[in-house]
Amino acid sequence: MEMNARRLFSVKLNDGYFMPTLGLGTSAPHEVAKSKVEEAIETAIDVGYRHIDSAYVYLNEVEVGRAIQKKIADGTVKRDDIFLTSKLWASFSCPELVQSSLEMSLRKLQLSYVDLFLIHFPTALKPGEEILPKDSHRKLIFDRMDLGSVWEALEKCKEAGLAKSIGVSNFNCRQLKMILNKSGLKYKPVCNQVECHLYLNQSKLLEFCKSEDIVLTACAALGSDPRKHWVSQDNPVLLEDPVLNVIAEKHQRTPAQVALRYQLQRGVVVLAKSFTEKRIRENFQVFDFQLTPEDMETLDGLNRNMRYLKFSLFADHPDYPFYDEY
Ligand code: NDP
Repeated sequence: MEMNARRLFSVKLNDGYFMPTLGLGTSAPHEVAKSKVEEAIETAIDVGYRHIDSAYVYLNEVEVGRAIQKKIADGTVKRDDIFLTSKLWASFSCPELVQSSLEMSLRKLQLSYVDLFLIHFPTALKPGEEILPKDSHRKLIFDRMDLGSVWEALEKCKEAGLAKSIGVSNFNCRQLKMILNKSGLKYKPVCNQVECHLYLNQSKLLEFCKSEDIVLTACAALGSDPRKHWVSQDNPVLLEDPVLNVIAEKHQRTPAQVALRYQLQRGVVVLAKSFTEKRIRENFQVFDFQLTPEDMETLDGLNRNMRYLKFSLFADHPDYPFYDEY
């Protein structure tokens, strides 16, 4: 019964595990107190979220782990009810550092495994613990990833039971194919987590991922947060889009709920970050209404291939993913 309830709002991954289709994002601007993520996760688990998206580089894995441990200790959930993602940071993107970096995350999280471990970016940085290694001219020191060997190191993490599933993030189609065509591939990536919303609906990448039984996970699905210094400041505010607002009004829902529902109906797993209780609840109320095919078509029409997350720091990197069409 419990397993069925869990599967109801989940998608089966190409390695047989299930991933809940709506997840809580945990990346916040630096000025937000770390305790906020802990409170948000506790609230979210109480509300019914079972998928939490984290990463080494969000620098809040201690708080993420503490919140999960608290909800396990008070009997709300068991460890295997929760689907937790972590990500390999760019300065650990060499085969020797993959497992040790995951183990470092697991120690912070106080967990023995993550459900999903992703290569965060295809753009490697100089290996080491410095998150953004810079030279004497304050220029970021790039490195090239040997994608095949790094992927093999992730496969070993899966086989060691440290990660149930493995995947990638911010990969374009060509970079995904480099893994898929790798000789001796043991496990395909289960997902590619990328920016995806009404203004960047990723329809071509989505079609490719579907053809390969890879889940596309949408981040920044609500248009992200311009308070983060790495988010473009000059873009229109997604949730204020007039067409989106008309459709939301018609369904007596909020623009955020429609933006999330849109992704679920096109087979995309969607993340929504909120540290505000009211919005955490609101964003979860997306399983009890349906957008019509006409609504979906209208929403598809909002696409303008516009990125909130350009990650310009990496723009000169030879493996910068966003120069390809998709
Ligand atoms: P989102 O698109 O999820 O938007 C978050 C912003 O929207 C916050 O400012 C939040 O405010 C606000 N918000 C949330 N719910 C509502 C609502 N119902 N109505 C109005 N505003 C709302 O942005 P993120 O960039 O955080 O992306 C989601 C997650 O995806 C991240 O947290 C992270 O886990 C992941 N991610 C991964 C990336 C990658 O490279 N793989 C890149 C970017 C994100 P408030 O908190 O105040 O409620």
